Amino acid sequence: MNDVLVIGTVALDTIETPFGKVEKALGGSATYASFAASFFATPALISVVGNDFPKEYIELMRKRSISLDGLKIIGKTFHWEGFYEYDMNEAKTRKTELNSLEHFKADVPEKFKGIKYVFLANIDPEQQLETLRQMNKPDFVVLDTMNFWINNKKKYLINVIKKVDVLLLNDGEARQLFNTINLVKAANSALSMGVKAVIIKKGEHGALLFTKNKHFSAPGYPLENIKDPTGCGDSFGGAFVGYLSKTKDLSEKNLRKAIVYGSVVASHNAEDFGLNRLKQLKMKDIEKRYKEFQDIREF
Ligand code: AMP
Repeated sequence: MNDVLVIGTVALDTIETPFGKVEKALGGSATYASFAASFFATPALISVVGNDFPKEYIELMRKRSISLDGLKIIGKTFHWEGFYEYDMNEAKTRKTELNSLEHFKADVPEKFKGIKYVFLANIDPEQQLETLRQMNKPDFVVLDTMNFWINNKKKYLINVIKKVDVLLLNDGEARQLFNTINLVKAANSALSMGVKAVIIKKGEHGALLFTKNKHFSAPGYPLENIKDPTGCGDSFGGAFVGYLSKTKDLSEKNLRKAIVYGSVVASHNAEDFGLNRLKQLKMKDIEKRYKEFQDIREF
């Protein structure tokens, strides 16, 4: 039985960082998110790829027990081309070729409609809304997005925010979406729209959690070996939701733990290009770094 539903993109990514370049590597928000969630849960994925999508990538996802019944195959795969300069906290987009994503309509297979934990990973907010509309009262819904959709589909995005439990976004996106340079003000704007929690990711500097009366700050992991941060936000979100679905405890205290698990998986993800690191990662590596996070936090 699947316990986390992830909708987002499955992509071919061309990425350049100061440490190298990959072309048409497996990527996409739903790919990273479901890979990360699969350490804690059994995810079902809703997305679209093209006829050009390599079979070996499908196999890789199947091997991680990610259910692909909600993956459509139409036309040509979504292709994102991005680069990073020495400030690896900010991805710069060179090209976004929506391809099959342009006419994609999310269809949730009947057997996934009762899944209680939903991650609306970064994709067209119209399809995030459509997915939610088809679900039978999930217990917990987390939403992620990015500047592309804030620029192009803000009205739909605001509608989705009003329907979710947790809004997840990075600091630049929070400032842009809520039109303020102050992150506390941005978080309060989101809380006033009805979300129970806002998580603001600050790249290598960690993540902030805002709830109505509390505030938590998770540190960044001091990574010495960083090659490619692509997918860190998505793997953070996937591990966060996966851990919560495993523990079934939505208290603020447990949200904090889920954020640290999210940070652990995301920090591992940055150690190699594309999915290369997550492919090798083991639960014992995750637990080891989780303990290091506890030490970093102690004072
Ligand atoms: P992040 O976690 O923010 O680094 O996400 C990186 C992933 O987002 C890449 O693998 C891209 O394929 C994917 N991506 C890039 N642009 C978009 C977009 N406009 N909508 C959805 N996914 C995207």
